[in-house]
Amino acid sequence: MPYVITEPCIDVMDRGCVEVCPVDCIYEAPELRMLVIHPDECIDCGACVAACPVEAIFEDADVPDEWNEYIAINADWFDK
Ligand code: SF4
Ligand code: SF4
Repeated sequence: MPYVITEPCIDVMDRGCVEVCPVDCIYEAPELRMLVIHPDECIDCGACVAACPVEAIFEDADVPDEWNEYIAINADWFDK
């Protein structure tokens, strides 16, 4: 289950998660004003969760209901 970045990252984008990701699968999505995780490259290590100051990152199965759309928002960004 890959990890997903959700709404609290918007306009924060401090890149704390990028610093700790061992496989560099977190990318800046300027038009979304947030960062996104590549669902196929993520190795599900969970290291990014604690690095995020605004608790924006969840395993996809644990994303709060109100932010469920972000599962697709992360994945779809890489289809473009
Ligand atoms: S769970 Fe691990 S591999 Fe996936 S984005 Fe976070 S730090 Fe990177
Ligand atoms: S650490 Fe959190 S707020 Fe900072 S860029 Fe990553 S997801 Fe966004």
